[in-house]
Formats: sequence, structure tokens, C-alpha cells
Amino acid sequence: SERTALGPLVGAIDQGTSSTRFLVFNAKTAELLSHHQVEIKQEFPREGWVEQDPKEILNSVYECVEKTCEKMKQLNINIGNIRAIGVTNQRETTVVWDKTTGEPLYNAIVWLDLRTQSTVERLLKRIPGKNKTFSKFKTGLPLSTYFSAVKLRWLLDNVEEIRKAVEDRRAMFGTIDSWLIWSLTGGKNGGIHCTDVTNASRTMLFNIHSLEWDPELCKFFDIPMEILPNVRSSSEVYGLMKSGALTGVPISGCLGDQSAALVGQMCFRDGQAKNTYGTGCFLLCNTGQKSVFSEHGLITTIAYKMGRDKPAFYALEGSVAIAGAVVRWLRDNLGIAKTSQEVEKLAADVGTSYGCYFVPAFSGLYAPYWEPSARGIICGLTQFTNKSHIAFAALEAVCFQTREILDAMNKDCGIPLSQLQVDGGMTNNKILMQLQSDILCIPVVKPSMPETTALGAAMAAGAAEGVGVWSLNPGDLTAVTCERFEPQINPEESEYRYARWKKAVMKSMGWET
Ligand code: ADP
Repeated sequence: SERTALGPLVGAIDQGTSSTRFLVFNAKTAELLSHHQVEIKQEFPREGWVEQDPKEILNSVYECVEKTCEKMKQLNINIGNIRAIGVTNQRETTVVWDKTTGEPLYNAIVWLDLRTQSTVERLLKRIPGKNKTFSKFKTGLPLSTYFSAVKLRWLLDNVEEIRKAVEDRRAMFGTIDSWLIWSLTGGKNGGIHCTDVTNASRTMLFNIHSLEWDPELCKFFDIPMEILPNVRSSSEVYGLMKSGALTGVPISGCLGDQSAALVGQMCFRDGQAKNTYGTGCFLLCNTGQKSVFSEHGLITTIAYKMGRDKPAFYALEGSVAIAGAVVRWLRDNLGIAKTSQEVEKLAADVGTSYGCYFVPAFSGLYAPYWEPSARGIICGLTQFTNKSHIAFAALEAVCFQTREILDAMNKDCGIPLSQLQVDGGMTNNKILMQLQSDILCIPVVKPSMPETTALGAAMAAGAAEGVGVWSLNPGDLTAVTCERFEPQINPEESEYRYARWKKAVMKSMGWET
């Protein structure tokens, strides 16, 4: 029998750095009904460069939507009940395409990419005192290889095709959300060129107070403003799906992945925080309707804006470039394991790094250091060290980096967090979760439904004006079942290891000058 009693459903496109997913939720219960996932290729054409194919990304979205709809038919769930679709995405990753052909003009430059280091240095020379944080109060961000503006600057400087397309007024710029929404709503045949405030706040061209593109910054980076997308709220109808099984369904939610996870974890109150362990690791703390500026290396970003007439909420963010990526590196570059799960097994076999410390500063160090010259190091090696110790040290590195951010967050906010809410692909690793609790000396809490990023995007889409099918209040979900990890080592040991880590970090800095 058909499960018609389900009522309205909401879909979410979750386009991450390592994979794309499409997921369908019940709008009454937030139950995950069906999903499909496709891994995305990463290209490393030169040292420090990370690219992805925008067409592959788009096709992976179509594939995930179609496969999920097929699975739903097999489950006797009516896909006609899908009332809205939300988009959540890897942030900062930069695409430029031709609006007359619908084709990308270059690969997407992925957020982790380091090619813009010399662009950053050149731009810094033009700022009095070479002050990296010159636009902190406007954008919330330091000048870094990480944000879209410098990637776009590099594309304009180095790709003749793009320069020509800009001259001919054929070029469009966007982060992954813009590229997807434009393509899905018709592309060259009337696609909607937009982004939401959370994604815009990662470009370094956006004023996070006025919620508009900033002409002065566009001038500083020499970016033509006509190639920028329209900036909208995170929850409103942007356009309709123009092809595939879900043709005609409105796309009505859009949030950068970390903002979406904050929403999906129901962190709507001042002081509520979550940490997501994916390719990188991102701790966001909701600061309400006021923007807080860090004195300790964190960035200020837009958390969400749930409707055209609703206020923007802000977050303090600690960003770590390499988390799950170090596990992938151990697997793909060193070949010490065949799967990410095997890395966990190796670490479990020894249960200690035996004094080995691994600083995976592959892309420099982000928060709280913002040091592009740092490079990865493994130190404290002895004759006794083996691959299991190194695997353990890699997991421990993710925990130490989180501790550095949490320390900065506590200093900026004044009230220490009493527990940490977590999510993301890496939280499947129980050793990591226990280690994290040990190193922070506070409980770590993981919801049993791990797809919080997608859930956040679905909530935004379902709650949009004119859709209005998401009837859940945040309070309805506070009873979600969680797994808890309590600290098991004494705080002195934790402090000792953390101090050793700090020493290792100092050694990683200034390597590539
Ligand atoms: P993203 O959103 O950045 O695409 P995900 O949240 O999907 O990332 O998480 C994928 C990352 O998590 C990969 O880098 C992978 O190496 C890591 N990962 C997945 N499972 C495990 C595990 N059991 N142990 C350690 N790392 C894992």
C-alpha cells in the first residue's frame, strides 16, 4: 500500500567536497525517507591546486535526484509529495561560466586550493601595514587563499577565455549553490542567477551588515559587479526545477553547508554551537542578530536569514582546512589503509600515538593562525613508531585543532561550552569521538540522524513563504536521540598532550616562505 499518510515531503541537495547527496525528509517528523550519494572526483593538477569539474558536480546532482526518486517508487512513496527542494553546498568554491552556452569556462577552484598564495601576497602589499584583517568589520574575514574573491581574481588574471567572456558580458560568477540553482532552474534558458546571504558572506565581496555586495571591495579586488549573482535570503522561492523527475518543484532553500548544519542541529539560540567533521572541520557558534568580532582568529559569518523580511543571524566560526582529508590522504597517498574505516581500525589497534604528533597543514593553517606558509609535519618519530601510531596521530590532530578553536571561541564569547554537538562523515569514527571528548574534557554529543546538513537545507526550503510545509518547531526536535561520549582521561594528561601539539604546530609554521 502506498505510504500516502506521510504528508508533505522536502528534498535536499547536499553538494559537499567529497560527495553529492540528494535526501528526502518527511516535513512533519524530519524522518529521512530515502537518499542517494555519489562521490566527486578531485583533481590536483599541480602541487597545492585542487579543482573539480562543475559539469560532473551538476550531473551528480541529477543522478542523485533520479536515483532517489527511483528508490522512493520502490518504497511506494509518492514523489509528487515533494513540495520543495533546498540546496546546501561546499562553500567558497568558485565557478565562472558562460551564460549563453551554459558551459563552465574553467574547472571549479575548490576552497582548499592554494594557488592564490601569490595573489594574496600581491594584494597585501596594497594594504597599509599589510594588515590581513583590513576588511574584518565589513566582511568578517581575513584576506586568505580560502575565500572566493581571490580565486575569482586569479581566474580573471590567468584564464583568457574568462577575460574575454567578461568583456563580452557573457560571464557569470557563482559559488556552487549559484551554479546549481542557475543550471537547475533552466540554465541558458532563463536560469535564475542568485545566491543566499550565507554563501555570499564567504566571498569577501559582501558587506555582512548591509547584506549587499560591497562596491569598495569589488574595486579592491577589481571584480566587475555585473558578473555577481543576486543575493537572496536563505529561505524563499528562487525558481522551479526545469527538468528530471522533480520538474516544477520549487527550489526554496539555500545555505552554505556549515550554516545548514547549524540549522539542522537546531542551534537557533545565542551561544549554541556545533562542530562538523567532513573534509575540513568547522565549529560555528550562533551569536544571534549581532555580529561578534573575534580577537582570537575566528571569523564572523552569516548563520542564516530565514526569509526575505526576516533578520540575519550571525555566527562565530573556527575553520580547520584538513580533517577527514587527512584520513583520505593516509588512504590515497600513503596507502596505509584501503578505506577510511580501516584507518580507524589501525588507530584502535594501538590506542596511542606513542608520542607522535601529526600537523596536517597541507593547505597552510586556517583558524586561529591563518598562516599560509605552514606545511604538514609528522614529528616525534622513533624506531618504534608504526603506521598505526601515525593513524592515531592523524585522528588526534583533528581533535587538537578543534580544541584550539574551542579555546578561541570560549575567549571570545566568555562562556565556555559545556558540551559539543557534532556531525559530519567523520563522526562515524568512534575512536575520534572519544578522543575528542578526552581532549576537550567535555562531553561530545552526536545526533543519531547524522544528515544534519541536509536537514537544515530541507528545513529552510520547507519553511519558505508560499511553500510553508515545514510545520516543526525547533523545540519539537530537541528530543532527538543522541550518542554521548564522556571524557575518560584526566585533565592533566589532556593538557600535557595539548601542549606537545602546540609545540608541533610551531614547527609547522613558516616552512614555505
Ligand atoms: P564533506 O561534506 O566535506 O564532503 P563528509 O561529511 O561526507 O565530507 O565526510 C567525508 C570525510 O570523512 C572524508 O574525508 C572521509 O575520509 C572521512 N571519513 C568518513 N568515515 C570515516 C571514518 N570512519 N574514520 C575517519 N574518517 C572518516
